[in-house]
Amino acid sequence: MTMKFSERVAGIEISGIRKIFEAAGPGSINLGLGQPDFDTPQHIKDAAIKAIQEGKTGYTTNNGLPELRAAISKKFKNENGIKYHPDQLIVTAGASEALHIVMQAMLNPGDRVLCPDPGFVSYASLATIAGGKPVSVPLTKTLHIDVEAAKKLMDGATLMVINSPGNPTGAVESEESIRALVEYAADKGVTIISDEVYEHFIYGKKHVSVAQFGDNVITINATSKTYAMTGWRIGYLAASPEIIGQCLKVHQYCQACATSIAQYAAVAAYEGDQSAVKVMRDEYEARRDLIWGGLKELGFDFPKPEGAFYTFVPMKPTLTEKIIEAGVIVVPGTAFGANAPEYTRFSYATSRQNIMTALERIGNLVK
Ligand code: PLP
Repeated sequence: MTMKFSERVAGIEISGIRKIFEAAGPGSINLGLGQPDFDTPQHIKDAAIKAIQEGKTGYTTNNGLPELRAAISKKFKNENGIKYHPDQLIVTAGASEALHIVMQAMLNPGDRVLCPDPGFVSYASLATIAGGKPVSVPLTKTLHIDVEAAKKLMDGATLMVINSPGNPTGAVESEESIRALVEYAADKGVTIISDEVYEHFIYGKKHVSVAQFGDNVITINATSKTYAMTGWRIGYLAASPEIIGQCLKVHQYCQACATSIAQYAAVAAYEGDQSAVKVMRDEYEARRDLIWGGLKELGFDFPKPEGAFYTFVPMKPTLTEKIIEAGVIVVPGTAFGANAPEYTRFSYATSRQNIMTALERIGNLVK
């Protein structure tokens, strides 16, 4: 019997990044991972342990613990200069679920979703799963959104994703670009999804929260990167009550609520000592300098990444293959869309020692 599957799902590929990991030989240095190599800070773990011991292990309200939503609302006010009432938030299973429920709630068949290309792998796939049609927004030579090109694509589009600091590029968008995009989108009736999961990892520039410039913005964030909590699966979305009302239905039926224990941990993350975030940021910056400087010395010429923990390096695919064969796991640009086949993503969410060994191995290939 031939199985019949949903064309929306059958038509998309499993993430290219997983395939590379499976192909890597033993002893490889992993510069492919998009997750912090730090441990979750102790006070956050303690809060989860306490929640377990106190039996706080049942369902929470669908949209998330009131105390967590209050803490996130306060964080938005203090760190981002944006007012979101706690009722304008839904706590999700990571930023991934937030992206999913937004696409499900906002898209009708064939609706266009403008996605940065190269960009984070999930945007186009989640748009497709929701029945929408992803449309690539090209980047400039410095890997920033090409604002004029984006504007030209906005007519009739439903959603546009902005991701600053960006994965895989490490680019941080300017206030001027963001404002221009949000205002133009508002004129065209386009809702912006702003994925700000890397907001705290910026080196030299300032994070600009997109929702400052209009109420046609859905902000998505997570504890995953900021607090080294990828496995805890806590993210959230913030939007107008109208959008929240629709998204909550999808969240309620597919997830019920985010994990209770992880939500208690997230309260401690937002309310507790923030010094670990600065320690991680400073370390990422030192590694950014190390990997960018090292690659430059080896003859790779590209702009210094401004944020997140990635460098996106122009190179021929044949060299990318050789680098992987030589025991350095990296991710080819083709994993991030159609526009960057001659780029490779290096993650520096790994030790300085690993970065130095990787540079040595790459050096042996190109010298
Ligand atoms: N958004 C971006 C830009 C990411 O790079 C990632 C993970 O790599 C996510 C969202 C997913 O975050 P989460 O682990 O919170 O689902």
